Amino acid sequence: MKSWSCIENCGACCRFDLAERDNLEGALSHKDIDLINSMTKKDGWCKYFDKSKRNCMIYESRPHFCRVNEFSTSFKGYLKNGDKFLIDCCKQHISSIYGSKSKQMKAFKTAVSKK
Ligand code: SF4
Ligand code: SF4
Repeated sequence: MKSWSCIENCGACCRFDLAERDNLEGALSHKDIDLINSMTKKDGWCKYFDKSKRNCMIYESRPHFCRVNEFSTSFKGYLKNGDKFLIDCCKQHISSIYGSKSKQMKAFKTAVSKK
């Protein structure tokens, strides 16, 4: 059975387009949305994402909605389908940012298969 796992040097979920994230409905407060908007640069990437290293510059103090293990419990899809829901979300993000045949997708598939 596959288990969700985040991989290093990805950050595909650090580019926001709330219009494309309809599954977040109900999981984010108005305060969260204001925070996301304040973090989002014109190109859609989070201002705390270091594009050259592909990592989070505020990892230890990142907002709660960036903490997948904690935040996922707010989703009906997670409660129903568990890690499969998270794996599908990551695949969507990785595919849209890096492509379905990217090295990030390959690394992600390997990581979730190993556990
Ligand atoms: S898309 Fe998934 S694997 Fe990539 S950084 Fe986000 S949570 Fe981690
Ligand atoms: S705060 Fe960090 S983990 Fe959250 S979106 Fe920004 S770069 Fe990504």
